[in-house]
Amino acid sequence: MTKVKDQLNRPLRDLRISVIDRCNFRCQYCMPADIFGPDFVFLPRNQLLSYEEIERLARIFVGLGVEKIRLTGGEPLLRKDLPYLVEMLSKIEGLKDIGLTTNGVLLPKHAKALKEAGLKRVNISLDSLKDELFGEINGRNVGVGPILKGIKAAQEAGLGVKINMVVKKGLNDSEIIPMAQFCKDNELQLRYIEFMDVGSSNGWKMDDVVTKKEIFEQLSERFSLEPVDPDYYGEVAKRYRYKDTNVDVGFITSVSESFCSSCTRSRLSADGKIYTCLFNGNGHDLRDFMRTGVNDQEIIERVCEIWNGRDDRYSDIRTAETVANRKKIEMSYIGG
Ligand code: SAM
Ligand code: SF4
Ligand code: SF4
Repeated sequence: MTKVKDQLNRPLRDLRISVIDRCNFRCQYCMPADIFGPDFVFLPRNQLLSYEEIERLARIFVGLGVEKIRLTGGEPLLRKDLPYLVEMLSKIEGLKDIGLTTNGVLLPKHAKALKEAGLKRVNISLDSLKDELFGEINGRNVGVGPILKGIKAAQEAGLGVKINMVVKKGLNDSEIIPMAQFCKDNELQLRYIEFMDVGSSNGWKMDDVVTKKEIFEQLSERFSLEPVDPDYYGEVAKRYRYKDTNVDVGFITSVSESFCSSCTRSRLSADGKIYTCLFNGNGHDLRDFMRTGVNDQEIIERVCEIWNGRDDRYSDIRTAETVANRKKIEMSYIGG
């Protein structure tokens, strides 16, 4: 197997695949409703990669070292027949893990089929346990009930479940402790995600970030936590365990403690562009290249060239200037 390394000696281990750029939510920090309104133009069907094209690229990436694939979006469960894609991916030799990130609304409908198709884990986003606040954050007035049903459906289907909570100062920081308590009581691993300056539509300001340190201090006043060693090289979440339990809590510290030096993630957009960093402005096209009829070897060479040239370390070098001036792709397009 050819393994590739980038300019900073980082291997290619993970592939995040955005299967769709549309979403049934309009989360303030991701797809603000005033920008992603009724006139917003999403990708037309023929510009999306087909499942066969996704599977072909995924197989090539696995051949180059990818061990984990995560399906995301937009809202990935809006893409028709997603379990069919999962089934195709789960047959790829050498692939160790397939996960999915979702807002959870459509899980009651699809969890069982996804599990049967080979999905192992889901990350479900939930930013508050208060209906009104959650409805305000998701921009669609959807209460917490449908997400709790989604969580239950995933657990009943036998999927591993983690909860993602983006914390934004003054918006949902009052939910840090209630969410911790809820997840601890229900044996769910909660991951607090620092609000990030992805894209250019969410009005990000450093002052809006609640850092891991601040969250950890709040948690420590209430719970006894002990650090947990990373499971593998490049694990993103910094994890702790509630003493005398099997329940972990994690932090994604993209802003306050960057982890670029061990970042092994590549991202494939729904229209077939490769992004080597969440904060890239432009991707490298593979869809049109693939549609010219090239063979696998030619695609392998193109991907190696892209990864070999990678020197991204945006979170290490974030400044007020990069935040204000850098053109960055939107999170809903690339998938987080
Ligand atoms: N729609 C799915 C969901 O919400 O889980 C998958 C796509 S969403 C873009 C992936 C993850 O990115 C979610 O957990 C979401 O909360 C997170 N996210 C979106 N915008 C963010 C931001 N500005 N900062 C930090 N995390 C963000
Ligand atoms: Fe949709 Fe997920 Fe973005 Fe919310 S975070 S708008 S659910 S893509
Ligand atoms: Fe990886 Fe880019 Fe995030 Fe750094 S900023 S961890 S290189 S995605």
